[in-house]
Amino acid sequence: MPGEDDGIRAEALAWLRENWDPDRSVRDWWALLAESGWGFPAWPREWFGRGLRAEQAAAVREAFFEVGAIGPPGSLGQRLGGPTLLTHARKELLEQFLPELAFGREYWCQYFSEPGAGSDLAGLQTRAVRDGDEWIINGQKVWTSGAQYADRGMLLARTDPDAPKHFGLTFFVIDLNQPGIEIRPLHQMNDAHGFNETFFTDARVSNDRIVGQLNGGWSVALTTLMYERFGGLVPSAQPGKKLAMLDMRAGDVAAGRARGEREGMGITNIAATVTDVARKLEKDSDAVTRQRLAELYAAEEVQRIAGLRSTAARRTGEGPGPGGSVGKIARSNLSRLTREVGMEVLGSNGMLVGPETPGGGRLQHAALSSPGSSIAGGTDEIQHNIIGERVLGLPKEPRMDAEVPFRELKTGTQRD
Ligand SMILES: Cc1cc2nc3c(=O)[nH]c(=O)nc-3n(C[C@H](O)[C@H](O)[C@H](O)COP(=O)(O)OP(=O)(O)OC[C@H]3O[C@@H](n4cnc5c(N)ncnc54)[C@H](O)[C@@H]3O)c2cc1C
Repeated sequence: MPGEDDGIRAEALAWLRENWDPDRSVRDWWALLAESGWGFPAWPREWFGRGLRAEQAAAVREAFFEVGAIGPPGSLGQRLGGPTLLTHARKELLEQFLPELAFGREYWCQYFSEPGAGSDLAGLQTRAVRDGDEWIINGQKVWTSGAQYADRGMLLARTDPDAPKHFGLTFFVIDLNQPGIEIRPLHQMNDAHGFNETFFTDARVSNDRIVGQLNGGWSVALTTLMYERFGGLVPSAQPGKKLAMLDMRAGDVAAGRARGEREGMGITNIAATVTDVARKLEKDSDAVTRQRLAELYAAEEVQRIAGLRSTAARRTGEGPGPGGSVGKIARSNLSRLTREVGMEVLGSNGMLVGPETPGGGRLQHAALSSPGSSIAGGTDEIQHNIIGERVLGLPKEPRMDAEVPFRELKTGTQRD
C-alpha cells in the first residue's frame, strides 16, 4: 500500500522488471531470488532475505503479481518451515536447511494432525523413543498436504508421555526417504489428491534434527501454526526433486498458474474471475448478480486487508499473533461466498466439470474445494476460541487435562 511500505514496492517492481525473464529455468530464477533477497524478503539478510517488515514483504508480493513473475518456491517447508527454523533452530540447522529451502531444492510437509488429534493437537500419540543418537518413530499422521512430493517432514511427536500433554512433545525435521515411512493417498471430492495419511513404523530421525528444545515442541509448533494462519503466497512452481519442475521454463509455469488452482490451491483474483464468467454468460447486467459480485469483491478486500493488518501487527517481530486468526476466518468466509456466488453465476452450468465448461471449470472446482479452507490450519471454531481468549480476553475454555501426565489421559484414539 502506498505510504506504508517505504518505497519497497517500487524498488521490488524495478528489480523484478529488470530481472524477470520468462526464458530462465525455474532453478535459475529461484537462485536469483534467493541471492537477491527478494524471494523471502522477511527473512534476515544473512539468510537469503532483506530483513523487511511483514507489511513491506506484502508489498513485494503485490509487485510479483503486477509483473506476472512467478514467486519463490512455496511448499510448507518454505512458508512455515523456514520461519519456524529462523525462530527456534540452532545455527547448524539453519546452515543445513535454509539454502535447500530458499533455492527450492527441497519440498517439506507438515506432520502434525493425527486421526485422534486435530484441534486437540497436543493430544497426539505418535511416539519418538530415544535410541543412542537417534529417535525411533512409530505412529500415524493424517491430512498431510503434499507428503507424496516431500523430501522431509516437520514432525511433531511425543517424547515424554509422563509429562502433561503440552510438555512432552518435540519438533523434528525427518527425512522421508527411508524405510518405515509409508505414505498413502487420500482422494478428495474435488478430484485432487492434495493430502495423505502416513504410517511410521520404526522410522528414524537423528537427535541433531530437533528444532528448539527437547520436549519444547509445543511452542515451536505454535510458531508454525501462526505462520500457517498468516497465509500470503505468490503462485509458483513446486520445489523439490519429485515434481521435477526445477528445469521447467519459468514463463511456462507463469502461464500455467491455473494448473495449481486445479490442484486445490483455490483461485486467485476471485471477484475478477467470477465477474469475468458472469460477463461471458451475459449475467453482468442482472441486478441481483451485480449485487452479489460487489459483495464478493468486498469480502475479498476484507480478506486482503485483514492479511495486511495481520502483517502490520508483526512489525515488532513478535510473529503473526492471534490477529492471524481474523485473517484465517476472512479466508473461510470468502471461500464460502465464492462457492455461493460462483454457483449462482454458473446456474445449471455449475453441474458440469472440466476445462471446456464456462469459466474453464474453475468455479466448480473452487466450490468443491471450499470446505477445506475452514478446516485446514485450525478450524473456524478454533480461530473463534483464539480470538475470544487472546484478543477479547474472555475466560479460557475449561481444560481438565492440562496438568495430568499424558500417559494417564483418555485422549485422541485412547478414548476408544
Ligand atoms: C485442506 C487441508 C489441508 C490440511 N493439511 C494438513 C497438513 O499438511 N498437515 C497437518 O498436520 N494437518 C493438515 N490438515 C488437518 C487439519 O489441521 C485438521 O483437519 C484440523 O486441525 C481439524 O482437525 P480434525 O480434522 O481432527 O477435526 P476435529 O478436531 O476432530 O474437529 C471436529 C469438529 O469439532 C470442532 N471442535 C473441536 N474442538 C473444538 C473446541 N475446542 N471448540 C469448538 N469446536 C471444536 C471443530 O471445529 C470441528 O468442527 C489439513 C486439513 C485440510 C482440510
